[in-house]
Amino acid sequence: MSGRSPRVLVIGAGVSGLTTAVLLAERGCRVRIRTTEYPGETTSAVAGAIWGPISLAPRDRTVAWARRSHGRFLELANEPGTGVHLALGTVASREPIAAKRPEETRLMTDLRACEPGELPHGFTAGARATLPLIDMPRYLDYLTRRFREAGGELLRSQVPSLSDAAGESRIVVNCTGVGARELVGDAGVLPVLGQHVVVENPGIAEYFVELSESGRWASYMPHGDRLVLGGVAVPYAWDRVPDGEVTAGILRRCAEIRPELRDAPVREEIVGLRPRSESVRLKVEHYEGARIVHNYGHGGDGVAVSWGCAHEAAELATDE
Ligand SMILES: Cc1cc2nc3c(=O)[nH]c(=O)nc-3n(C[C@H](O)[C@H](O)[C@H](O)COP(=O)(O)OP(=O)(O)OC[C@H]3O[C@@H](n4cnc5c(N)ncnc54)[C@H](O)[C@@H]3O)c2cc1C
Repeated sequence: MSGRSPRVLVIGAGVSGLTTAVLLAERGCRVRIRTTEYPGETTSAVAGAIWGPISLAPRDRTVAWARRSHGRFLELANEPGTGVHLALGTVASREPIAAKRPEETRLMTDLRACEPGELPHGFTAGARATLPLIDMPRYLDYLTRRFREAGGELLRSQVPSLSDAAGESRIVVNCTGVGARELVGDAGVLPVLGQHVVVENPGIAEYFVELSESGRWASYMPHGDRLVLGGVAVPYAWDRVPDGEVTAGILRRCAEIRPELRDAPVREEIVGLRPRSESVRLKVEHYEGARIVHNYGHGGDGVAVSWGCAHEAAELATDE
C-alpha cells in the first residue's frame, strides 16, 4: 500500500464484513461498511458459535484459514470484552465416527476419545477437547467498536447492484453471505436455515455437539448466563421466522442429554441462513473499473474461518 490511504467499501456487517473491515481500517484505509442489517441482526449473530473442524472447500485454503482464525481466537480469549472464551466439551455421535481426523484437529492439544461412561445415553462414540466459543452478539459488538475506533463508518444502506458499489469506490469487498445470490447473481449460494433457542443457563460450563447427518441434532454452547441450544439445518429455506415445532424439538433433544434444561426459561428463538456454496468465493473480480474482492459462501463455518479469510481479502483489496 502506498501514497494516500485508499478508500474501501465493504458490503455486509456480518462476521466476514466486520473482520475484513477491521483489518483494512487498522491498516490505514478509509473504510465504509454498507449493510442491509446491523451486525446484531445478521446470520452471524445467530451462530453458536464454536471454532471446530470445518467442512468447507477448497480444502487446502480452508485449513489455513481455520488455523489462522484459531490462533486469533486463542488471543481474543485472553482479552476481556471480546465475547470469546475457551471451554472444554464433547462432540459425540450415535454412529461410529470416521477414524481419520481432519487436519485442523491437530490444533486441539488436549483432544482425546471419550470413555464409554462419559457419553450420554444412546451415543456410541465421541471426543473431548478445549475449543474457542464465541458469544456472537458480544463478539460482533466488539468488532464494531474496534472498527469505529480505527475510524471506520457503518451505514445501514442496501447496495442494489455491483455497479452502484463500483460507482462509489474503486475498491469493494463483497461480504454479503446469502445476499450474494441477489447482488452478484450467484445461484451457487444457497441458504441452509438454522434455528437456535437461547435459554437461561442453569449452570452448564461445557459445550456439547451431536454429529448427525439427519439435519436435526442436539447442541448447547454456554456463554455466561446464556446457553445457546441447537440445532437444525434446512436447505433452501428463506423464512427467518422461528418455528415453534423446531424449538420444541431442540429443547426435547437437549433435555434428553441435560435434564436440567427441561425447565430452563427461554429467552429467545433466533434464525439464520448459512450461506452454503460448493466452494468459498474469495477472489478478485475487476468490474467497471473497480477491484471487487468477494468473500462469501462460508456455509456453517464462517466464524471458524473468519480471520483467515479476512486477512486474505484485505491483502487482495490493497494489493496494487
Ligand atoms: C444456527 C447457526 C449456527 C451456526 N454455528 C456456527 C458455528 O458454530 N461456527 C461457525 O463457524 N459458523 C457457524 N454458523 C455459520 C456462520 O454463522 C456463517 O457462516 C457466517 O455468519 C457468515 O457470515 P457472513 O458475514 O459471511 O454473512 P452474514 O452474517 O449473513 O452477513 C451478511 C451481511 O451482508 C449484508 N447484505 C447482504 N446483501 C446486501 C446488500 N445487497 N447490500 C447491503 N448489505 C447486504 C447483510 O445485511 C449482512 O450484514 C452458524 C450459522 C447458523 C445459522
